[in-house]
Amino acid sequence: MNIILMGLPGAGKGTQASEIIKKYPIPHISTGDMFRAAIKNGTALGNEAKSFMDKGELVPDEVTIGIVKERLAEEDAKKGFLLDGFPRTVEQAEALNDIMAESDRKIEAVVNIEVQEEELMNRLTGRRICEVCGTAYHLVFNPPKVEGICDLDGGKLYQREDDNPETVANRLSVNIKQTKPLLDFYKSEGVLKNIDGSRDIKDVTTDVESILTNL
Ligand code: ADP
Ligand code: ADP
Repeated sequence: MNIILMGLPGAGKGTQASEIIKKYPIPHISTGDMFRAAIKNGTALGNEAKSFMDKGELVPDEVTIGIVKERLAEEDAKKGFLLDGFPRTVEQAEALNDIMAESDRKIEAVVNIEVQEEELMNRLTGRRICEVCGTAYHLVFNPPKVEGICDLDGGKLYQREDDNPETVANRLSVNIKQTKPLLDFYKSEGVLKNIDGSRDIKDVTTDVESILTNL
């Protein structure tokens, strides 16, 4: 099961991924999470990515494609994967097709979670994340049982540095520009599935699961 979750920042990709991996034994591979881990560990990759992330710009394609290629070659990804936040450019999508073809694999579905732009600013500025497991909460739409604490493991919740209104506005405009050609690319490949992401988290999950069970 080789799946891509697409959608603008805040559409709910990470939230849906957390649900899907409870039922399907495939890794959730998020390029944003990989970059944040690299920054935390102070690696060269982290230093390079940070300057772009702080501004809400995309990390250059050659860097991003390189880390995804390495990750998809790992044993746990061979049975399938859920890609979140990659590809974001047509160049990345073409590189991904090449990576897949080299190992006789292909992308089976691109699940595109659609949400109106106005809603995304509210979602992103109210987002809080568990520092232990990365689960996303929302101050209003999806609050934890105890304020500031993850329901799953008691980890502390933090706000991502780039979830401030200025960087969010830039991330949205950068991503909106890149998205249309990417959707056209996957539509022409016949794998694009659009779902309405403006509904309750559970309803969106039901739609994602029905796509996966019908593959
Ligand atoms: P993405 O990974 O696409 O950037 P997230 O999954 O982190 O998005 O979700 C962004 C924010 O919106 C989080 O605070 C999350 O709790 C909240 N959220 C996710 N899905 C929904 C939904 N269907 N309705 C309301 N809020 C949601
Ligand atoms: P979101 O979808 O909520 O903006 P992510 O966690 O997916 O956040 O990404 C955070 C940042 O990491 C992006 O703003 C960008 O700088 C970088 N990034 C993540 N994925 C990619 C990618 N596929 N290509 C280029 N940059 C990326």
